[in-house]
Amino acid sequence: MIESLIRPHIRNFQAYHSARSEVRDAEIYLDANELSLGSPVKFDGVQVNRYPDPSQEALRAAIAARLGRSPSMIFAGVGSDEIIDLLIRLLCEPGKEEIIVLEPTYGVYRVAAEFNNVRVVPVELDENFQIDPETTSAALVPDTKILFCCSPNNPTGNLLSRRDLLALCRSFRGLTVVDEAYVEFAGRDASLADRAGEVENLVVLRTLSKAWGLAGLRLGYCVANAVLVSYLLRVKAPYNINALSASLACAALGKEQFLRDAVSAIAGERERVAQVLAGMKPVVKVYPSEANFLLAEFRDPLAVYGTLRREGIIVRRRHEPRLQKCLRITIGTPAENDLFLQTIAECV
Ligand code: PMP
Repeated sequence: MIESLIRPHIRNFQAYHSARSEVRDAEIYLDANELSLGSPVKFDGVQVNRYPDPSQEALRAAIAARLGRSPSMIFAGVGSDEIIDLLIRLLCEPGKEEIIVLEPTYGVYRVAAEFNNVRVVPVELDENFQIDPETTSAALVPDTKILFCCSPNNPTGNLLSRRDLLALCRSFRGLTVVDEAYVEFAGRDASLADRAGEVENLVVLRTLSKAWGLAGLRLGYCVANAVLVSYLLRVKAPYNINALSASLACAALGKEQFLRDAVSAIAGERERVAQVLAGMKPVVKVYPSEANFLLAEFRDPLAVYGTLRREGIIVRRRHEPRLQKCLRITIGTPAENDLFLQTIAECV
């Protein structure tokens, strides 16, 4: 059934066979026009004069082991942003088919679709930024190929209801993509990674850019049905994940304690900042958050933004109709958060 969601020309498409996808156990590699003499720089034993593993085997195995899923259900991308783009290109016929985004939400779903000439149908989240099952179901039409859901949602910070997500996914033949970039910060185990792929049309997107502290590596992954993963592997750029990123990520994934400490430190700071901020004069409201940022409404957000900027502190302005008075504030180190709060206290 998943196969029927793939654009027809891709179902019969001959993927590029990179040199390293053909042979990986030779003594002497003279097949890929690399520089066999070596490289001017070395890092951590990684042979950067050689192309990396196109099938991402070690990395997919390390991610799969952490999640207790099969490596055949894992695909790694250059950030989850690459996977968003690949899923759209894999499923949606330009100029004809569409995606649904639940607004306000992460902007890349829209940009990636528009860049690919795929129509974007926005559906508003309800007043609590939860899925409105009726309006969302009503927007699903035969040409809807992907429903993008973000949980915890960026920029509102809330988890979407697991029950609503699964119900929507079951009622819809297209792909439901649940973007869990921030899920490690949630107060409870809210991930749907255990259901992705098993529910055939459910894809969970994750990233090492947030709680794992590896945004510079550019590594995201998805948990999905193995057939979908096999298509993602065929359409990606031949060597999308570079050797250094893969090697560092494999090492990082063994450091569970780092993740636990980071998540608990950020969650503690998030609650402290939220509480202090909520009592401040320029602030109208601080939204509850399960992520590593806070969404807050201000009386005069532009003035606050300007004051912070003059102090060298940058936060994110929001332009969505419902959030025009809001700023999104990433939780920093305790010292950074103190400076931020002090600066807000000085705003009149
Ligand atoms: N999804 C969400 C909800 C995000 O907020 C972000 C980054 N801000 C991403 C995906 C992209 O993350 P990555 O660094 O893995 O491309």
